[in-house]
This record gives sequence, C-alpha cells and structure tokens, in this order.
Amino acid sequence: MTAIDPASRQEVLKLLHRIVDIGVDFKTSEEVYQRRPGPCELRDQLVRDLPEQAQSVEAVVRELLDTVLPASVNMASPRFQGFGDTGADTAAVAAAVVALFAQQNLINQSFCSPAATMTEIAVLRWFRDLLGYANPPVEQVRTVWDVGGIVTYGGTMSNAVAMLLARENAAPGTLEDGVAEPDRMGLVVPARIGHYSVKSSMAWAGCGTHLIEVPTRGLRYDPQALKRALVAHRGRVACVVAYAGDSRTQTVEDLRAVHDVVREVDEQVWLHVDACWGLMCALTPRLGHKLDGIALWDSVTVDAHKVLTIPYGMSALLVRRPEALRTVSSYSDLIMQEDFAFGQVTPFVGTKEWVSVRAWAMMRAHGRAGLAAMMDDRLERAAEFAEMVDASSRLLRLNEPDMAAVAFCYLPPGHDSERPDVAELNRVNRAIHARMMAEGRWHLHQFTIPDDTGRVLGGAMLSPLRFMSINPRITTRHMREVLAYVEELGAVA
Ligand SMILES: *Cc1c(COP(=O)(O)O)cnc(C)c1O
Repeated sequence: MTAIDPASRQEVLKLLHRIVDIGVDFKTSEEVYQRRPGPCELRDQLVRDLPEQAQSVEAVVRELLDTVLPASVNMASPRFQGFGDTGADTAAVAAAVVALFAQQNLINQSFCSPAATMTEIAVLRWFRDLLGYANPPVEQVRTVWDVGGIVTYGGTMSNAVAMLLARENAAPGTLEDGVAEPDRMGLVVPARIGHYSVKSSMAWAGCGTHLIEVPTRGLRYDPQALKRALVAHRGRVACVVAYAGDSRTQTVEDLRAVHDVVREVDEQVWLHVDACWGLMCALTPRLGHKLDGIALWDSVTVDAHKVLTIPYGMSALLVRRPEALRTVSSYSDLIMQEDFAFGQVTPFVGTKEWVSVRAWAMMRAHGRAGLAAMMDDRLERAAEFAEMVDASSRLLRLNEPDMAAVAFCYLPPGHDSERPDVAELNRVNRAIHARMMAEGRWHLHQFTIPDDTGRVLGGAMLSPLRFMSINPRITTRHMREVLAYVEELGAVA
C-alpha cells in the first residue's frame, strides 16, 4: 500500500481511520506532553541515517505515533496557556484533511486549483470586510489584482511582502533596478515591543536595517516622540509599522491617531499594521472600536493560525488599494499568465498549498455571530484570569488586556514595592518559567518587556509570564491551578 490506489483502498482506509482516532485522542488529552525528554535524548533517538531497506507503511506510522507524537506538544491542552495555536477547530481540521486529499496548487487557477482559488478569494474578502477595507462587487473581481490580498504561510511572510510594497512605494522600480539608496529605507517601529519580522523583512528585501525606534507610553507610540522622529528622518522613511496587538501583551495601537500624526509630516510613507493578533478585535462588536482608523492604513497583516484555532500555517496580507500588489508581481509565460493565478501576486512562493480552506471552513461554520461569541468568551476568560492575578498578594499584573493576553510577575518574598529589586524579580520569574518548561505539565509564555505602565519600576525591562485565553478548554479550575503552580515554583525559585 505504498500508494493510495484502488487495490490498496481497504488497507489505506484502515490505517487512516486509526490515525484519525489517535489524532483526536491526542488533541482531547489534558496533557501538554505525554513524554518530556530533553533535546539531546530526542536527537539521539530520532536523528538517524536513511535506512537502506524498505519498511512497511504500518511500521513507519507506528514509529511516528509511538515515539514522536507522545513527545510532541499538545497546544490544544487546557494546561497549555501561553499561546492560542490550538489548531482544534473541527471544521478547519476537516477542511485541512479534505485539502490534503485534494492536492490543489494555488499558484494557478485554470488547471491547478479551479475551485480552490475561488474559496481563497472569498476568505480574503471576508478578512477585508471585517477590517473595514472596501471590496468591489463580486462580478467586478476579474483578476487577482481586484482581490486586495494574498494568503501566505505566516505573519512573517505577510510582513515581508508588506515591506516589499513599502520599498516599491518609496522607490518605484526597485524590483527591476535594485536598491539604490538603502539609507532612504528607514523603518519606524515602536521601541522594544515590536516583532523581529518587519526588521528582518526589510533586510531580506535588500534595504538593510535602518530601524528608527520610537519611545512608547503604555506600550503604544508616544505621539510627540513619533512626530519628532518623522521630522528628524524626513525623506528617509519608507514605512511606519504599528501593532494592532503586539506579540507580547496584544496592546492595540491608536491607529487613527498614529495615522494622523504620520500623515501630517509625510504624505507618502507606507503605513503597515501588523494585526497578527488584532484580527480578534474585528470579530466582536465589543472590540471593533479598537481598530478605528485601520482602513486608512496601506496594508494589514492578519495571522489566522494564531487567532482562529485553525491548523498551521495560514496568514494573509491585505492592501488598501488592491492594485498596489502589481508593484511586486511576477510575470511568466511558464504557467501562470492568467487572470486568477495567485502565483503572480505572491512573492517568494511558487507552488502553494490550499491552507486558506481552513479559515474558510472555520469562518463558515461559526458565522459572524459565532465568531463574536467565541471572542467574547475569550474576553471573559482573560478578565477572570486578570482578577485572579489581582487577588493574589504574590502576583502583579502588568497590562490591561485589550484582547486575550495577561502578563504578570511573581513577586518573590521580601519584594519591596517602594524599592524593587528588578534583577531578583526577573531571576525568580525566569527560574519559574525554566522549571515549568522542563516539567512540561503546564505552559505559560515568557519574554522581556519594558515596564511602560510603571507597575514595578518605570522603564525597567521585565521578564514576566504570560497567559492567553484563546483556548476554549481553559476553565476556571485550570486558571486557578496554573497560578497555584506558579506560586509553588516561585516559593522555591
Ligand atoms: C506571531 C507574530 C508574527 C509572525 O507570525 P508567524 O505566523 O509566526 O510568522 C508577526 N507579528 C506579530 C505581532 C506576531 O505576534
């Protein structure tokens, strides 16, 4: 049964049914890991030479299920509370399986993905609609340049395409001629809260790293400082990036105000919103106002695999003016010179998997009302967690949650709020996190972040823990238990 064919049909069905059973058991388990060996043990077990002899498919699959899967992370566990990447939406998983069998290639419509291209266009239009970008009537969508977005494999790649657009906007024709004046490719970002991907993308785009970091207040741009930076670097800025949900606390920028400050100084610089998380605000009327002004920005990245509980990897880049994507398009008579070939507008990618069907199925299954209810549920869970943190004298919350993230520190015994020992505070919180990772029973995330709200010591760099409320399996009991565990680890750290 090396290939799926009529002769192997029965055997293949038996095998795949068993894998589905085990896969569902894996996801529905409470455990984050069934086994938690260290990296070297796993390396020695799994990094092997290619065997000379053939093996039965059955044996290969058994090895995967018996040795690799149990040592893999289960992000759908209710004890995994650091990210939201559960990949557990039933409609999305079902659609992903369908796509796996269908094997459509989104590079080209006519003979590679006749129908899948259209579901991809539908998803892109739904995202645009949720964010407030206008869509043309369906009958006016005649080419991929009328869609106003592309599907990519992740936020990093979407941001990379946005930086190409910013580059072409600052110096039209760079795609043909190469970068002539890299020092005019300045990239404005909020200091210390940004995601590395925009900086790396500018470098990958041949523009070098001309980062202009602007001080923040309350984890958002300080508007005065932003204005000063734009004036000081006038003529040398290609892009201003704002975060609708930074990757640490999901704090949403005041997009209208930042837009207005920038446009007062510079009428043509490219404005990019990284809304990898911010798509969540568009799901519920309770948060819609937080994205006010987003439709004035030139491009927006959304990361569906982070916020829609769909399997990896699916993101989208959306552009205010659909025709802007022409500036980074490829033309080839090889396979894709036709109206609906996404290969033409998707830099870096040729053959492209039908990942968008995961979002298509998930969003269809929930509908607007279901998406709103799902998001409201996350807000309630985040508020409940924040309350639990606030109720403990050993814990200190660092952010007012805009969405699903709560950052907090464990306060070691002897902590003096008048004269905090930041180094000791960070040491203890890092030790808690290291122990938690090694044990693998629970998961919270950790990073460094400026204490912009001054809850410990204004301006200090902190290493807090972060909870995220996206997974619907996280109950009050799980939140209470993870906090008790943090306090237990903190007491001996
Ligand atoms: C996660 C994240 C990215 C990168 O997305 P990937 O899907 O991991 O490539 C970019 N920006 C922000 C704000 C993020 O949180």
